[in-house]
Amino acid sequence: MLIAVDPGHGGKDPGAVVGDYKEKDINLNIALKIRDILVKENISVIMTRDKDETVDLQQRCDIANKSKADYFISIHCNSFTDPSANGTETYAYPRSLAGRNLAQYVQNEIVEMLKTTNRGVKYESFYVLKHTVMPAILVETAFMSNPQNLDLLLQKPDAFAQGIANGTIKFLKSVNYKQTDDIEKLQMKGIIDKHYDPKSYVTWGEFASVILKILGGR
Ligand SMILES: [Zn+2]
Repeated sequence: MLIAVDPGHGGKDPGAVVGDYKEKDINLNIALKIRDILVKENISVIMTRDKDETVDLQQRCDIANKSKADYFISIHCNSFTDPSANGTETYAYPRSLAGRNLAQYVQNEIVEMLKTTNRGVKYESFYVLKHTVMPAILVETAFMSNPQNLDLLLQKPDAFAQGIANGTIKFLKSVNYKQTDDIEKLQMKGIIDKHYDPKSYVTWGEFASVILKILGGR
């Protein structure tokens, strides 16, 4: 399992700027903490940047695609002209079922952890969601333009990271449970004859036997 973690902006692109605070720094701080939590859980992580450097959107996608990451998580802060706008929202690529599910788990856990306003899961063809080949989400953690939200981002980066990591871990477990369940259903139907680890490989011989059984050949 390999997760690509993408701290939004960086280098000459600060992202949102409020007073002395730049979005690129907040994103990186949270993203590095996510990496540390996931690595402790034996989940491999590749970062699209791990310091303050300029990385364009295609480079970010290339890093994830070339490393064959299983999922892509982009970390951002929101900003709006009206300072009353606040809360957390998570984006997935339109019609990506796995992306939607991952986004929902992550969204729920952040809101649970930080008690931010739940703005829900949304769908957009953002560049990094569109040009990554794996299921991808973009997290708008909270609004830098809202004073209370900015306080949370500055005071509780660990809680944001923990929420995003918890959501990711719960999502991965749910995928594993679902696949184990699917394997058991095939076993009960007699299409496969033993219990397989959902992540183990299938040989051509096993694959041929399964197809023959489905076709009623033996
Ligand atoms: Zn951003």
